[in-house]
Amino acid sequence: MMIDVTVNEIIDLAAVSGRQLLFADEAGALLKSIGIPVSPCRVALDEEETVQAAAAIGYPVVLKVRSPEVVHKSEVGGVCLALTGEYSVRSAYREMMRKARMVDRQAQVTVQPMAVPGVEVLIGMTTDAQFGQVVAFGLGGIFVEVLDDITFRQVPLQEKDALDMLLSIKGSTILKGYRGSGPVDTNALTEIILNISKLAEHHPRIREIDLNPVFAYPVGALVVDARIVIF
Ligand code: ADP
Ligand code: MG
Repeated sequence: MMIDVTVNEIIDLAAVSGRQLLFADEAGALLKSIGIPVSPCRVALDEEETVQAAAAIGYPVVLKVRSPEVVHKSEVGGVCLALTGEYSVRSAYREMMRKARMVDRQAQVTVQPMAVPGVEVLIGMTTDAQFGQVVAFGLGGIFVEVLDDITFRQVPLQEKDALDMLLSIKGSTILKGYRGSGPVDTNALTEIILNISKLAEHHPRIREIDLNPVFAYPVGALVVDARIVIF
């Protein structure tokens, strides 16, 4: 099957490189190959490539550090949002690399378009010693730590399980619209949840998936940060 070839190839590449944590661009390519909507993401090897990538993507852009040593990018100054031109890209690149190269001399960056803001949710999967593979859903971004409002279901999920997850979090009303914004596209979210369940079911080599945040929109949804860990 076409789908599995891509997924396995990406997993193999990380495995032979001795990495359990896929790069964000690899995770993005994997998710895209199974139909999950992900923000485009280009790898740049140096400052000039970063500027070229930003121009090709179109401003405003986001720079993120790309290193196997960095799991939580914003904690180490590894995320620069809403860069509006070449000058700000260059200075963000230099500052980000100055910090990153202290922990990884080979650190690189990825360049993404700045996404339209949406309701931030998280969709994940972990492999639990007792329950096996479980899919997680909750509010993302700042809400994750503050509210501890995450719900879990065992793989494989049915459509009603996915829908039930959206309804069963405490912050469910946020999905129905807040601060004057309309409801988010629950179909788009359930589709991602079911897709993640299928991916985990067919690829037990994947140990953990963390899509955080996924921007939920009135129409559609978009993954802007993806972490995948393999066994
Ligand atoms: P971390 O490794 O720290 O989780 P993220 O890639 O999730 O890094 O970025 C941190 C935050 O920046 C996200 O929670 C989101 O609010 C914002 N963000 C990240 N990427 C984008 C993007 N492409 N467009 C708009 N906002 C973004
Ligand atoms: Mg994140």
